Amino acid sequence: MNDESQSLVSRCDATTCRFNDDMNCTAGQIEVSMSGQTAQCLTFSPTEGMSDTQSVSADNH
Ligand code: SF4
Repeated sequence: MNDESQSLVSRCDATTCRFNDDMNCTAGQIEVSMSGQTAQCLTFSPTEGMSDTQSVSADNH
């Protein structure tokens, strides 16, 4: 047994995300993209009032 058997998101550092509540992800279901050793959350959504830009929204042309 090791810690990797835990839920994928037991703790999230993206405190600018609206789903982040005291370092915990409150989104019921999230999408994560793995690239190499880095996991990027595709569900990341900045809290209102914060002008953090993350290109996770759909591209509407
Ligand atoms: S949705 Fe993603 S970025 Fe937001 S708190 Fe959850 S894991 Fe972190």
